[in-house]
Amino acid sequence: MKPVKVTCLGTGDAFSSGGRLNAAYLVEAPDARVLMEAGPAVLAGLKRAGVNPAELDLVLISHLHGDHFAGLPFLMLDYLWQGAPRRRVVVAGPRGLRDRAERLMSTMYPRLDLGGLDRMIRFAELAPERRLRLQGVELRTMRVPHTRRDVSLALRLAVAGRSIVFSGDSRWTDRLASFSAGADLFLCECSYYGSGHGDSHLDYETIVRHRAGFDVGRLVLTHLGREVLPRASRLKLETARDGMIIRL
Ligand SMILES: [Zn+2]
Repeated sequence: MKPVKVTCLGTGDAFSSGGRLNAAYLVEAPDARVLMEAGPAVLAGLKRAGVNPAELDLVLISHLHGDHFAGLPFLMLDYLWQGAPRRRVVVAGPRGLRDRAERLMSTMYPRLDLGGLDRMIRFAELAPERRLRLQGVELRTMRVPHTRRDVSLALRLAVAGRSIVFSGDSRWTDRLASFSAGADLFLCECSYYGSGHGDSHLDYETIVRHRAGFDVGRLVLTHLGREVLPRASRLKLETARDGMIIRL
């Protein structure tokens, strides 16, 4: 099988704890280059990894919180001024993504002519509990409990014979185990160390308690916050760091 490379561009939480970049992961397969999440520093993450944004085929957004999608205007800016994508990029995420991203762009750069963007970007909506194919990538979506009104998703990608699951941001649900079953890689958010931080995020103690229930090749914790980071080297589970490369 041809190799699939996953680069963790940004593994921090919304507060960039430990100086980490906000959420962004790059999946490189022979036929597709996929960016999962576009936190505000997404261009820094891509360019540190030596990746030209113009070479992306697909951008997936799990939910509409700034640390996951607020980098989209910078990506648009890069396409307008530094080089158009080599083929029209599909930017896919929960309902409302296009409106929120365009409003953010026009707030940040109010006098910019955005007319050319339609030729460069096509927005697509990801509804929960769906299977679909975008830019050669098989996708599955699952709604996760994180936001109340807006939809938050976990994502499962099948590309070049590998499967990669990303939890997005979520509090605990048993469905994470069934959704990730059989995956080669499960990138799982872990904002906190201990439980008791409300009902929006996952914590290490909860994940470790359920570890035996996960049937995945490799489980890597990410979206790490200030409580869990100082303990990262002593945890029983693997943790991601910015720039980390995972070969599948
Ligand atoms: Zn987040």
